[in-house]
Formats: sequence, C-alpha cells, structure tokens
Amino acid sequence: MVAKGPLRLNAGFIVGLPVGESRDFELDISHICLESDLILDDLVGNVRITRTAQGLLLHAVIQATTPSQCVRCLTDFTLPLEADFTELYAFSRNGMSESGLLLPDDAQIDLTPLVREYMLLAIPIQPLCMPSCKGLCPICGANQNEVVCDHPEEEFDPRLSVLKTWLKPNEIE
Ligand SMILES: [Zn+2]
Ligand SMILES: [Zn+2]
Repeated sequence: MVAKGPLRLNAGFIVGLPVGESRDFELDISHICLESDLILDDLVGNVRITRTAQGLLLHAVIQATTPSQCVRCLTDFTLPLEADFTELYAFSRNGMSESGLLLPDDAQIDLTPLVREYMLLAIPIQPLCMPSCKGLCPICGANQNEVVCDHPEEEFDPRLSVLKTWLKPNEIE
C-alpha cells in the first residue's frame, strides 16, 4: 500500500476485514512541513493498521531528518529523528483509548498531528551536531571542531592557573 496524500491513509477497506487482520502502508516523503513549525525531510516509515473489535489499531515506525542547529558550535546540521508509536482509532466513544482518537466517518486517517507530536518529542532540548562537539572557543569564537586555537588551554586549564600563582608571588604582594 502507498499512502494517499502526504500523511493521509485511506483505511476504509480495513474496517471490513475480520478482526485480527492487518495491512501495511509505506511512507516515503522527501520533504514535508507540518503545521508550519516542523520540517521533515526524507521521511520513511511503515504503518501497520490492524482491525480490532474496538477500532483500528495503528502501529507506526517512522524515520526522518530535520534541519537543526548545534547548541555548542552553532553549526547547521541534519538531525535524524525516529518515532515508534501505537494508537487506537476507535469506532465509537465507548471504545476510545486514553488518546481519545475516533475513526472518522470516511475512515481517512490523517497522521499529521501524531507524526508532528512524536517527532517533536524526539528532538533533544539541546541538539548537538555530534556527541563530542567541542563547541566554539570562548575567546576567539573559532569552531574548535575545525580549528585548533590555543586559547582554551591557556585560559581554562586549572593546572596552568595554579602555576601562574606559584610563579608570580612577587607581583601579588
Ligand atoms: Zn556542534
Ligand atoms: Zn580561540
């Protein structure tokens, strides 16, 4: 199955299947902007929709990337994101899960709100271009992943500051 529209699945035929039957939808979207605040590129994923007695159970495993900026070195980079979630689209209010999702009358499931919610959760509060990012030199502003300047060691190595006080006792008095 190929998804109809960017993140819209036509699940009507699954309603008619026996309980326990499922069908898979493949997602493959090169670029999408969700509600103007989340850009996703290279979105791929699998959505399995299973007919249950209460409604349609949806299990989605999705990967994408989003443009981001490193909080340490301020470099723009591509942040990989992953989401894996299960939600029930109930046939009636009686069968609703905690999420409160109802299957629309036309059985068109729009994944946009769920994908947006779970992908936003996957974005770290402080994104890093790499775990070992060295950040910017606080003195000259050089990106220390790319340039080696001698500033940080001179200013911040505690051993050196101890040395300085030993070497300059006369100046202190
Ligand atoms: Zn960085
Ligand atoms: Zn520097």
